[in-house]
Amino acid sequence: MSSKLVLVLNCGSSSLKFAVVNAVNGENLISGLAECFNLADARIKWTTHGKKDSTNLPPMSAHSEAVAYIVEHIIKKEGSLASQFVAIGHRIVHGGEKFTHSVLVDENVINNIEECISLAPLHNPAHVLGIRAAQAAFPELPQVVVFDTAFHQSMPAKAFMYALPYALYKDKGIRRYGMHGTSHLFITQEAAIALDKPISELNIISAHLGNGASVTAIKNGQCVDTSMGMTPLAGLVMGTRCGDLDPSIIEHLIAHEGYTIEQIMDILQKESGLLGISGISSDFRTITEEHLKNNPRATLALDMFTYRLAKYIASYAVPLGRIDAIVFTGGIGENSALVRQKVLELLSIFSYHVDVQKNETTILGKSGIISTPDSPIAMVIPTNEEWVIAKDAVALVEQSAPVCA
Ligand code: AMP
Repeated sequence: MSSKLVLVLNCGSSSLKFAVVNAVNGENLISGLAECFNLADARIKWTTHGKKDSTNLPPMSAHSEAVAYIVEHIIKKEGSLASQFVAIGHRIVHGGEKFTHSVLVDENVINNIEECISLAPLHNPAHVLGIRAAQAAFPELPQVVVFDTAFHQSMPAKAFMYALPYALYKDKGIRRYGMHGTSHLFITQEAAIALDKPISELNIISAHLGNGASVTAIKNGQCVDTSMGMTPLAGLVMGTRCGDLDPSIIEHLIAHEGYTIEQIMDILQKESGLLGISGISSDFRTITEEHLKNNPRATLALDMFTYRLAKYIASYAVPLGRIDAIVFTGGIGENSALVRQKVLELLSIFSYHVDVQKNETTILGKSGIISTPDSPIAMVIPTNEEWVIAKDAVALVEQSAPVCA
């Protein structure tokens, strides 16, 4: 099989995930994480051909030092690997309403990503640093940006608007944008193959359940509604994020309990969700273990997680009408048979029945149907966002290549 290699970069404010991906089959040749940027113990770990390695970066290293290390000490060790790169693909969290699909990077694109900084103040500046570092390291290679928000741009206004004064949308861009779009797009493409249906006729509900979690209604292959909002704080119960909330709670805590807005945002983003409810952990494996030991707060966290997800899924029957499949993905969706079983039990009004054996064995990267033959379809598909980024990057580079007469 031929290979089309893409270096995929996912830059956070204090970390950088990277992978060398073959866009033809999704294989990861190298993957790794540089973290603790701007701190004395900045470091990097990576896996090449299944072999793990790690080292400290120079103190206070950040994006450009990390990219330089990746190029000089990890990629160059693989001989001529870099000469096979077709493009660099960047994951971008927020494209606002400016980007409905992936694009090749130019100065105008970078300016537009910067204009979306107020919508993703931690992520978008880091993405621009990552693009600049990659341009410096690979000046000859095309760079492509792939947006988490792009897949959700097909939502109709009735789904993306908040019931606020219209001017807040028109003048200030306050609306639902949705996140995890790259994952929901991958699930749509893979579900179409698994169910042998054209994407344009596919109606599914995609539940991406990881440390961050979102659920999306996809009609005729396009997003029509999603649980995350203007930011990734809205919707489902997550590892440390609260999801949906009565906005007056914020005013109450400030006016009557003396909290500052910074304290409240820390609580909502870092101390809520599974961690806040259980008081134990944001990690679903720990929550499950404690639930099985009859810890009541772990059980409450599990019940709230599954109840809210089932309510969202049920509500998406409204825009979809017909549901071809519910698809579970992400670390929890791919591995927790318990969550899948509980959610499908809560949806028994729609006649869902779990095949217990299939549900329990479809874990650890396996995909497959977990419902009984007399049930509507529920299935598991492991997500692969890096592959979507690599495929989009190759497609854009090939489209832009001059065609010889
Ligand atoms: P992600 O953000 O997609 O990497 O997913 C991270 C979440 O998946 C964490 O809450 C993990 O505890 C959870 N997870 C990973 N493996 C398992 C497992 N075997 N059972 C339950 N949850 C898991």
